[in-house]
Amino acid sequence: MEIGISKKELQALVREAYERFKDETGGKNADYIPYLAQIDSSLFGIAVCLPDGETITVGNCDYSFGIESVSKVMTAILVLKQYGADTLLYMIGADATGMPFNSIMAILLEKNHPSTPLVNAGAISAVSMVQPIGNSEEKWKAITENIAELCGSECKLIEELYRSESVSNHNNRAIAWLLKSYNRIYDDPTLSLDLYTRQCSLGVNARQLAVCAATIANNGVNPCTGKRVFDEAHAPRVVAMLSAVGFYEHTGDWMFTSGLPAKSGVGGGIMGVLPGGFGIAAFSPPLDESGNSVKAQKALQYIMNRIGAGVYSNRRVTVTQDVAAE
Ligand code: GLN
Repeated sequence: MEIGISKKELQALVREAYERFKDETGGKNADYIPYLAQIDSSLFGIAVCLPDGETITVGNCDYSFGIESVSKVMTAILVLKQYGADTLLYMIGADATGMPFNSIMAILLEKNHPSTPLVNAGAISAVSMVQPIGNSEEKWKAITENIAELCGSECKLIEELYRSESVSNHNNRAIAWLLKSYNRIYDDPTLSLDLYTRQCSLGVNARQLAVCAATIANNGVNPCTGKRVFDEAHAPRVVAMLSAVGFYEHTGDWMFTSGLPAKSGVGGGIMGVLPGGFGIAAFSPPLDESGNSVKAQKALQYIMNRIGAGVYSNRRVTVTQDVAAE
């Protein structure tokens, strides 16, 4: 069943969600990365990017925050572009772990692959696969160019975050070397870990995340630049990975309550993809115990439930011009 919502109605709904949750105080900034602990926890923004490239924004949508784990999606796309789906599945996997994002246990249990590029282990593995192997500078260029193409504009490194994360990433160092022992790091482990840490330290805003999500929702064509960023065959694979593990051990609850394939990051960002519909993002630093932004989750759940057209529903949403809806 097709359901229409006008741009004006969607704009009003996004504003309503913003007003409804802006004073919520639940959750806590990530503090295992010192830079993230001192970010203003009242920052809050919601952005939606439509298939015609128009973007609806409310709140702090131009504030650059740490992209963190949302970058895992972008680099998974790069690996799909460079190697194809079969190789990604064989070298990394596309499975849920049911465990926290930085779990060592998940690696020990599934030593034949790191499960998915959307948890730390698989993401470090994915970065290690980025070509050209062995060339840190060129790999970094490939990673950042791909992110810029997906987001429609460049994401700049937050130097202070990169430093903060580099001196506190002991768990990720253990992951990189454990993966090496299972032959699941495909480049130098130290180089791969450093590039992963750097990619997580890129600054992104909610508007850029919404554009990236819309590029996935639009089967690989960025609706703002009109450029094809990746082959359309990859889009459903990306959505499948988001649906399986985008919120780590709480992905089932998330999909059940929102119907929105999405990826969170400990910087407070969430990027959601409604295939054929739109890309949506929300940002607010305080997190729940799994590392997912509390306010961003509430806002996105609210919007999705009001529209009533998540991926498991037979209702397909079309955003119409206001004239047609009035
Ligand atoms: N860079 C962070 C880490 O590796 C990303 C975690 C996240 O956003 N869930 O711990």
